Amino acid sequence: MGKNRGKFPDFKVLILLFVLVTAGNLLILKSSQTLPVFWFFTPLSGRTVVIDPGHGGIDGGAYHGDGTLEKHINLSVAFKLKSVLEKNGAKVVLTRAKDESLDYRNNKSKSRHKRDLIARADIINEVNPDIYLSLHVNAEKNSPATRGPMVFYYRSSPESRRLAELIQAHLEEAYKSAGHSVRKRNPYANSTLFLLCNARSPGVIIELGFMTNADDRRLLQNPDFQNKLANAIVLALREYF
Ligand SMILES: [Zn+2]
Repeated sequence: MGKNRGKFPDFKVLILLFVLVTAGNLLILKSSQTLPVFWFFTPLSGRTVVIDPGHGGIDGGAYHGDGTLEKHINLSVAFKLKSVLEKNGAKVVLTRAKDESLDYRNNKSKSRHKRDLIARADIINEVNPDIYLSLHVNAEKNSPATRGPMVFYYRSSPESRRLAELIQAHLEEAYKSAGHSVRKRNPYANSTLFLLCNARSPGVIIELGFMTNADDRRLLQNPDFQNKLANAIVLALREYF
C-alpha cells in the first residue's frame, strides 16, 4: 500500500502468473505421458464421467481359487481412476462406492442379476455424463495363456468406438511399461451386452485383464499397476475430449 507503487502492480503480477501457469500447463499437456500439475485447462475440465465398478456384494464376478475376486479389483481401480480424473478437473460419479450389488435399487425384473444391471444403466441415464466406463476383469478358463485388456463398445456408437480404440491402445501401453507385452487387439463392437444397449451416453466396458492368467492376476492386484491402468485410461480420455 506504499505511495511509490504504481496503480496496478498486483494486476501485472497476476497477468504474469497467469501466463506462466498457462505456458507450463500447455507444455505438460504436450508430453502425453505426464499428467498435468494444474488441472484447470485440461481437456477433462468440467466433463462428467460415470465409473461403474462391475459386480459387488453377493456377485463376486470372475474369481480364482486363491480367493481373488473380480469385484474387489474393479472397485480398487475405480477409486484410483476417480482420483486421477478429479485431479484433471472431471466430475466423477461411481455407480457403487462400496462392496454391494445394486439389485435393491429397482423392482424392474425378477432376476437379481438383471436388476443389478438395470440399476447401473439407470444411474448412467440419470447422470447423463459425457461418457461412462464400466470396469471388469475377464476370464477364459480353458485358455490360461490368454491375457491383456479388451474393450467393448456399442456397435452403433461411433463416439464409443473412438473412445474404445484410445483406451485399448493406452491400456496395452500400460502393460508394456510394466514389462509385459500383450497381444495387440482392436476393441470389440457389441450389440447384445445389457449396459452397452441401455446406457444412452457414449461409453465402454473395459476388461482390464484376465483373472485366468497368472501374470494378469498378479498385476491386477498390484496397487502400482492399478495406478498405471488408471493413468492409461485418463490419458485416453484426454485424447478423446
Ligand atoms: Zn465382470
